[in-house]
Amino acid sequence: MYSMVLHDHLDGGLRPLTAFELAKKLNYRPLLDCEDVSQFFNRSQSNSLEEYLEAFTHTIALMQSFENIERISYEAAVDMHTDGINYYECRYAPFYSVNDSLSPENVIKAINSGFKLAEKELGIFSGIILCGMRHDLENVNLVSELAIKEKDNIIGFDIAGPEKGYSPKYFKRSFLKVKEANINITIHAGEGDGVNSIQDALDNGAQRIGHGVRIIEDVDSQTNKLGKTASKILEDQIPLEVCITSNIHTNMYKNYEEHPIKILVDLGFNVYLNTDNRLMSNTSIMQELKIAKMLNVKNSDELLKYSASDSFFK
Ligand SMILES: [Zn+2]
Repeated sequence: MYSMVLHDHLDGGLRPLTAFELAKKLNYRPLLDCEDVSQFFNRSQSNSLEEYLEAFTHTIALMQSFENIERISYEAAVDMHTDGINYYECRYAPFYSVNDSLSPENVIKAINSGFKLAEKELGIFSGIILCGMRHDLENVNLVSELAIKEKDNIIGFDIAGPEKGYSPKYFKRSFLKVKEANINITIHAGEGDGVNSIQDALDNGAQRIGHGVRIIEDVDSQTNKLGKTASKILEDQIPLEVCITSNIHTNMYKNYEEHPIKILVDLGFNVYLNTDNRLMSNTSIMQELKIAKMLNVKNSDELLKYSASDSFFK
């Protein structure tokens, strides 16, 4: 059986040792002055999604050259392979790495170059989903244009960053253009905001929902009666890219037991297990699988299975 990961951020998955080595090379003080790199990035105690996202400024600082991005991408694919993954969908906001000597096209080239190295060595297939940053309308627009231009070198389009106040509808034109170009769309929704945001993602062409766990708020806890959005997601078997530990760390749920994954699976939703940010959440896909098993999620192993219809690989 083949396994896939659908939701994992490139800038959230650096190996701590690699982060330290690259910081040394660049003399990047915040990482060199801290006592323990893993602890520095650990966001398990953060109070909000915003606080969690702050950690990324420090990984992005290390992702400003072709070589560094290539190495980080290669290692991400290797680590996924080590965890038994055959199809790895990775995502990144490319403009975070653009500078005077690195074009957006070369950022994509560097990522794919790292992925190809891992593929040649180990046989793992990896592809990149481009993320527009939703707090910046112009960025989303630029990334959508880049996605269309680089269509053959990417596997999808997404918007990431703070969800509340930045509903998918604000980027309607970008999503339309991307959809017309036949590029796959997934949208972060139902994480920092609720059911309306998920509905809005569907209305704007999302074929999968990043997180999506707050769809549970559209299910009556007494009767299990589904609202309009939940019915649509269930009937159409829209994949939910669920990331348990990340949801705890961004303070969506107080503890693992409060996470709705088990109920969602029991109700028949099309749930996939994912990592989101391995470094910030100190996790791995095997660790997430262990947690799903601990929570008695039915057929846990199936949550990683490869599905040609839900994967963005063509
Ligand atoms: Zn994410």
